[in-house]
Amino acid sequence: MKLEALPGFTKNREKALHQNGIVSSQQLLYYFPRKYVNRSELHFVNQLDESSIERTLLVTIKQSKLAGIGKAKRLEALADDGTGTIKLVWFKGVVYFEKMLKPGKQFLIWGTVKRFGPYWSMAHPNMESLSDESQIDQHLRVFPIYPSNQLFEKTYITSAVLQKWIKVILEQYHPNEYLPQSILKRVHLFDRKTSLQHIHFPTDVNNWKQGQIRFKFEELFLFQLCVRKIRADRIEREKGLLFSTTSNLVSTFIKNHLPFELTAGQNHAIEAIKKDFTGGFQSNRLIQGDVGSGKTLVALISMLYAIDSGYQCAFMAPTEILAEQHYHTLFKFIEPLGLTVRLLTGQQKTSVRNDVLADIAGGTCNIVVGTHALFQNDVQFNRLGLAIVDEQHRFGVLQRNQLANKGLNPHVLVMSATPIPRSLAMTLYGDLDVTLIKDKPKNRKPIRTAVRSEKQRNAVYSFIDELLSEGGQTYVVFPLVQESEVLDLKDATQGFEHICARFPQYKVGLVHGRLSSEEKEATMQQFIKNEIQILVSTTVIEVGVDVPNASMMIIEHAERFGLSQLHQLRGRVGRGDRQSYCVLMKGEKLSKEGRIRLETMERTNDGFEVAEVDLQLRGPGDLLGTKQSGLPDFKFADLVNDQEILEIAKEEADNLLELDPNLELPEHQALKRVFDPYFDERSKFYFTS
Ligand code: ADP
Ligand code: MG
Repeated sequence: MKLEALPGFTKNREKALHQNGIVSSQQLLYYFPRKYVNRSELHFVNQLDESSIERTLLVTIKQSKLAGIGKAKRLEALADDGTGTIKLVWFKGVVYFEKMLKPGKQFLIWGTVKRFGPYWSMAHPNMESLSDESQIDQHLRVFPIYPSNQLFEKTYITSAVLQKWIKVILEQYHPNEYLPQSILKRVHLFDRKTSLQHIHFPTDVNNWKQGQIRFKFEELFLFQLCVRKIRADRIEREKGLLFSTTSNLVSTFIKNHLPFELTAGQNHAIEAIKKDFTGGFQSNRLIQGDVGSGKTLVALISMLYAIDSGYQCAFMAPTEILAEQHYHTLFKFIEPLGLTVRLLTGQQKTSVRNDVLADIAGGTCNIVVGTHALFQNDVQFNRLGLAIVDEQHRFGVLQRNQLANKGLNPHVLVMSATPIPRSLAMTLYGDLDVTLIKDKPKNRKPIRTAVRSEKQRNAVYSFIDELLSEGGQTYVVFPLVQESEVLDLKDATQGFEHICARFPQYKVGLVHGRLSSEEKEATMQQFIKNEIQILVSTTVIEVGVDVPNASMMIIEHAERFGLSQLHQLRGRVGRGDRQSYCVLMKGEKLSKEGRIRLETMERTNDGFEVAEVDLQLRGPGDLLGTKQSGLPDFKFADLVNDQEILEIAKEEADNLLELDPNLELPEHQALKRVFDPYFDERSKFYFTS
């Protein structure tokens, strides 16, 4: 039906609706209440026993009178409900209400009751005049309160008006139910129309919730169906390269070149990857493990399988520092095996770059480690069989797939330390298979974290003295506040000078984003070799950097960092045998959120716990950057609070795809009509041409 056909519809009201994005009557049906007021229960004066709670009473006016003088004039009325008397008071609109309150008139009133002297009283009660007691049922119910704004207020589009309109529209609304009946039944969902009915005209405090669950489910279900289908299709369609997993290379490496034993988690991950390599399908697996869980080694062993089967590997890192570091680590491990690894970054000289490119194209290099530079068109592989993306959260879904397109449909392995809460991981990585590394190498002692203020700085420095005299090393990190790179730099540079002056007997280094990669690299190498004992840096060292002998980190202005960033930074220590420490230096003024962040860091080392708190504080979009992460904007669902519904949605999506992968059954045709365009739209995030 047309909006104009609604009772009491005017041009001004039309404008107000348009301004709020409502141009059709159907959209009004999906304009959901912001909250509900439960006025379904009638109370009695002689049962009131608690002050300051909202109550609903049916009363008859006994008498009313003006009290006070001048500006302080007020209207008082005594009203009776058969069980007792309550006093009603008005300080405003005195004249208006005085006319209304004829003795003997009956009103349904609701508001906050308070005890004053001999009477219970209610100030400025909401009231509904009742000429006839039989009307009472339609007034005793749960009332929806709709989101309002200035335009709505100006044109008197009140909750009551909206409800009246919606009632008319809903009567003529006969939507197609596209969710399969079997799912509605199993998940106990109302059909679309009933859900709307309950949301706008709830009969009790629970059925509107049930109504909303339906729409949350629907939204999450479509999304899950989409990512799970992408995954299922890939498995179905993409033939995977077959690697030999009885690799001599791997066994030699583990036997002769590995200085420690693999953890159970590492073994578990490697088993899963091996299975992918021999399964005949192209794999797309996420290895998720907290910082320091040893993901690089898992990557390396996976690469050895690929190399032994005659393929090349690409290993992509989000920053140059990290790419360089991976390069050195891999070099150290694989050179003794007679293999070649090369580094490709954006900052290399043309001659070096050309040489690397030739090596990659010619097939003489087994592994190439690099940054985004790996995406570029002139990077041609000879036989790319495995692409690994480190610290996946830094890259969007798009980029992940871009790399995969470079070879012969290589296996793809992504590694992430961002301990993403389960709900988010399911949404973001629904198209991936996920393996968790739950443990860390045995020798690790939990990092001790403490918050310190400026007053305690000297004590903190004495602590560093002690650590350094025992041969340890420390990081001092300054935040990068985007607004002014220059100022940030000043912060770090000043910090550097200050530290140099305070610790004259030690060597202090400085790295920040403005340095060339050679300069950064040179300083990092010195730190790794313990030629530098204190490394002052901006957050360029945030991800992945691995210097086991560095057992202490001071984070300046710690309150300015996000929680997951703090956790990532802290992950730079606690990588060796030493007891490690993380000191969070806090500023004078802390916001409430800032305090929660620091307290959380002090309380736990568990990345998942940190992530949950972060999700609560920031919301999912902000946590990962909605756009680049490929996360949709949900209208009804909320990834923080609707995790349970999400789980069920995923399960149902998987069930459905197993039963009817292409939605061909007659009972799925309605769903198919909705799903197909949705899928086309969403797939853009996953496939590039
Ligand atoms: P992350 O998972 O954060 O990428 P890394 O791969 O950088 O972790 O590993 C952290 C450190 O732990 C490295 O110094 C690495 O050599 C070491 N390491 C990895 N696996 C083991 C193991 N099984 N036993 C002992 N140390 C290990
Ligand atoms: Mg790593």
